[in-house]
Amino acid sequence: MKVPMVDMLAGYAPIKDEIEAAVKNVFNKANFILGEEVTKFEKEFAAHNGTKYAVGVANGTDAIRMALIASGVKKGDEVITSPFTFIATSETISQVGAIPVFADIDPVTFNLDPKSVEKKITSKTRAIVPVHLYGLPCDMDAIMAIAKKHNLIVVEDTAQAFTGKYKLGGTEWKMLGSIGHCGTYSFFPAKNLGAFGDGGAITTSDDKIYETLKQLRNHGSKVRYHHEMEGFNSRLDTVQAAILSIRLKHVEKWTEMRNAVANAYAEQLKGVCVTPVVPANARHSFNYYTLRFDTKAKRDNAQKYLTEQQIANQIYYPIALHLQEAYAHLGGKRGDLPVCDAVMDTVFSLPMYPELSDAQIKTVTDAVKASLTVGAVK
Ligand SMILES: *Cc1c(COP(=O)(O)O)cnc(C)c1O
Repeated sequence: MKVPMVDMLAGYAPIKDEIEAAVKNVFNKANFILGEEVTKFEKEFAAHNGTKYAVGVANGTDAIRMALIASGVKKGDEVITSPFTFIATSETISQVGAIPVFADIDPVTFNLDPKSVEKKITSKTRAIVPVHLYGLPCDMDAIMAIAKKHNLIVVEDTAQAFTGKYKLGGTEWKMLGSIGHCGTYSFFPAKNLGAFGDGGAITTSDDKIYETLKQLRNHGSKVRYHHEMEGFNSRLDTVQAAILSIRLKHVEKWTEMRNAVANAYAEQLKGVCVTPVVPANARHSFNYYTLRFDTKAKRDNAQKYLTEQQIANQIYYPIALHLQEAYAHLGGKRGDLPVCDAVMDTVFSLPMYPELSDAQIKTVTDAVKASLTVGAVK
């Protein structure tokens, strides 16, 4: 049985009429740039996250870049982040003139290890960008404590973790992205809340950051042709905002469905390989479902075997950022971040989307089990 990584059409079918009516409505009004649907979606998105504001932007990468600028990261600053993420997290740090500093990750959660973060702090450190990888919350209690102690900005890269939650201080459930100074989100189609194209947002509860973000996304202007600063052309399209408002109403249910798929995977793969850990103080958004094997050979074999069986799979991420050619100038090498090096060699992600059927789940887990007994696949 063929199993895809994601199935965008499965989520579209039940809400097709509603979406198409909303898109037609925008077409008929022709209010394509910053139409009222954008403001409406921003209000709904902020309310969903428990933040004062949300600002719609063109994509999740621009969201990080503008959040860094608006919260005060400047040329020459050092920004500590994870090496085990998509390059958007770090390229935006460089693009604002700052220097990405990679700390090591935790071997169980694959998220930033606060102890390693603390070791990387220098007099130039200005911010931390924790990434809630695959949808699992970072240790935000520890990260916020470090930030407070050293007076640092925290921008949460929540691209994979919208609808994820963290029980701050063990008492208060907070939506991911609402804990630091800013949270950044991607509406790339395959994320938890996907648009029908590119889109992104930034949340904050800080009035000044909010005002700056609104200017930054629109060429640094509040009033047309009056520019208090230079900015970007990075607005959320009205058409995408109209679609996102509809999809937002379903996203919590979809995350529950993703969690049900994850539970079934974990049950069937118990004792076979390491399945994702979800601590009691966390709600996972399961944008991705990632296994860990005890050796690279087993991982590589599982990957080859599933591919042969036409079961989609992916390694997020095969080469950590500190080892990428793009960061050769930073002098990173194998051994610098040993936990990250070991994790990237042994992880492997399975198909994950809300509508994945029991039969598909069984096909996938049977293949993972078989890959460990068939011997090396050529
Ligand atoms: C997807 C993603 C981004 C970038 O989002 P885009 O909308 O594709 O620009 C940033 N960080 C992480 C961790 C992501 O997964």
